[in-house]
Amino acid sequence: MPDTIVYRGNGNIYLNVTNRCSCDCDFCFRSFTSEVFGSDLALSREPTTDELTREIELAFLDGPADEVAFVGMGEPTMCLDVVLAVTEWLTARRLRSRLVTNGHGRLLNPGVDVVASLARAGLDAVTVSLNAADPEVYDRLCRPMFSKAFREIVLFAQSCAAAGIATTLTAVDLPDADPDGCRAIAEAVGASFRLRAHVPPPESRTDPTAP
Ligand code: SF4
Repeated sequence: MPDTIVYRGNGNIYLNVTNRCSCDCDFCFRSFTSEVFGSDLALSREPTTDELTREIELAFLDGPADEVAFVGMGEPTMCLDVVLAVTEWLTARRLRSRLVTNGHGRLLNPGVDVVASLARAGLDAVTVSLNAADPEVYDRLCRPMFSKAFREIVLFAQSCAAAGIATTLTAVDLPDADPDGCRAIAEAVGASFRLRAHVPPPESRTDPTAP
């Protein structure tokens, strides 16, 4: 079976560019499945820009989409060059683009003005996983490979909003997440806020048939 690098869900087209991530979140679905919207997102290798754009064209043959989003099963800014090139390709075709990220883009790409590059490529929106209202809880929940990642995530979101990219901070609905605190941070940096449902592993669900 070929890798799934482009898939559909929620009226959108999603791009699966990497399985690598700079976090090891306690709640990540990767610990119990690689299947999303019926697609297996395990990659045998990371796709090229040409492979992604070819698959996006094929996906549009099945009908329109509200947006094309870098989501997948890993951190897209691990492959920043591909994200930028595909975003430029989407912008040239007036297709709405969104990046779903853990906000480590600048830590992962030192020396690169990541936010300016995303804005220049025409990225419309970014969804940044904040997941906690303070660094200690963030480090415990998300186990980032970088120290001081929490502060950088907030600055990344602030820079995105200032660059005119529609910015949303999110938190997974967990007991420690402090949604009110996360919402306050989002408001302070010019972003909106969304609380995401927690998808527990099947063995800990009260209803094992729930998605
Ligand atoms: S940032 Fe996302 S992909 Fe990475 S470990 Fe956390 S939930 Fe999983």
